[in-house]
Amino acid sequence: MAKTFKNFIGGEWVAPATGAHFENRNPANTADLIGRFPDSDRRDVDAAVRSARRGFVLWSGTPAPVRGDVLRRVGDLLAERKDAIADVMTREMGKVLAETGGDVQEGIDTAYYAATEGRRLFGHVVPSELRSKWAMSYRRPIGVVGLITPFNFPMAIPTWKMFPALVCGNAVIIKPSEDVPHTVHLLVEILLEAGLPPEVIQLVHGRGETVGRALVEHPQVPVISFTGSTETGALIGETCGRMHKRLSLEMGGKNAMIVMDDADLDLALEGVLWGAFGTTGQRCTATSRLILHRKIHDRFLRRLGDAAEGLRLGDGRQERTDVGPLIHEASRDKVERYVEIGQEEGADLVLGGKAPGGRLADGWFYRPTIFAGVRPRSRLEQEEIFGPVLSVIRVSSFDEAVRVNNDVRYGLSSSVYTGDVDLAFRAMRDLDNGITYVNAPTIGAEAHMPFGGVKATGNGHREGGWEVYDFYSETKVCYVDYSGRLQRAQIDAVLP
Ligand code: NAD
Repeated sequence: MAKTFKNFIGGEWVAPATGAHFENRNPANTADLIGRFPDSDRRDVDAAVRSARRGFVLWSGTPAPVRGDVLRRVGDLLAERKDAIADVMTREMGKVLAETGGDVQEGIDTAYYAATEGRRLFGHVVPSELRSKWAMSYRRPIGVVGLITPFNFPMAIPTWKMFPALVCGNAVIIKPSEDVPHTVHLLVEILLEAGLPPEVIQLVHGRGETVGRALVEHPQVPVISFTGSTETGALIGETCGRMHKRLSLEMGGKNAMIVMDDADLDLALEGVLWGAFGTTGQRCTATSRLILHRKIHDRFLRRLGDAAEGLRLGDGRQERTDVGPLIHEASRDKVERYVEIGQEEGADLVLGGKAPGGRLADGWFYRPTIFAGVRPRSRLEQEEIFGPVLSVIRVSSFDEAVRVNNDVRYGLSSSVYTGDVDLAFRAMRDLDNGITYVNAPTIGAEAHMPFGGVKATGNGHREGGWEVYDFYSETKVCYVDYSGRLQRAQIDAVLP
């Protein structure tokens, strides 16, 4: 009998006001019911905000190094339970165990980084223009922070948002993706065990259009951090703009890998297999376009087709599996639609293009798919598919490759394989993305570096690294004049 889970609101595990629940099923085998999770509504969000406001009073008054110590214990507990959490995550999300282990590891790294930040959270002290005057800035907590997260990194993304928000002294309400609610349930258990005062964290499960929306529209939630599709992000942006909220958006991508004629082709082949088909292509940084120099195009494409054909589809909890299922039926329908679009647009289907049958018919599997001869500016080349579909584009020069890379609405990640150091530096300068990899695929963010994209991928903020601490804190500036007289800035000139 599958378990019925609860929200965490007001320091307690509680049933939703609606009394209703939704099912969480294993995408590799939809007969496997993982549990029933609260189908909450606005009333639960209201209760969560009331509690979080009390939590904020307590937590914002706790010294930042002490807040950091709680995060260090969270990191320890995540490390202890890494394998068990990875198993839960693969069961509800589908990606293979090595990847869900990596997802938990990112949470561990983020926790330890956040813990040390509790002892920094630097402000500035700068010289004043005037004599006997002190000029400084410091960081203050903001209040109740609302976090809305997607399905594809069930642990890493919640921790990217939650840990810096907590170290900065805010109280947090999280609404995880309804596709992967179990992983965040485990995370909240760990936060409480690590000693986080209960009202500092609230977990409200439910649908985006109800719980997510109520959180975004709540006047006492001044900060929203969202990761998900560009369409949802645009809706959230409208509301936050109207309500003058601080908003961080991390959204879609259409990332390209460029392989030049002087590249190490063995290395590039490994990179593109991992970049395009890892996580079944369901990464914001997935390699969904492969831009090949004409001199190596045919050779590389042949090798790629052979290698991709050898990838083993299956349950991510089985050791032999390379590629797991898609997250749900709608996602597979979307992939199928784009395969039709690609064919209508005249692209050449080199591999895949269908769902497997047999023992995999019980899950949302789809074969790794490669289209060659994809035309720049076609829909296949421009739109985010979020599945195991790779579009190959042939170019004649590095400049043309850069143009193709840049000519999409998104700007998250890019990659170039070349042995030419000049080209590598030109790529770092000219590729219009938040992240560029040289001789590595479009994937591989590290927790202590800023992460995010330009154009329709983001709104200028970054997750991770030191920059995210700016987002979750308010800078306050203080001047202390100890001259004993009125000194007017910009008016009372001081001569050397
Ligand atoms: P999604 O936009 O469908 O959902 C994301 C979250 O938003 C979910 O929790 C959902 O319930 C919630 N939501 C939906 N409608 C809402 C509304 N009206 N108001 C408030 N919340 C709402 O995205 P998804 O399918 O879970 O994730 C895939 C997308 O996320 C892809 O586009 C991918 O590129 C993007 N993504 C981006 C990054 C990044 O850092 N740039 C990272 C991971 C995923």
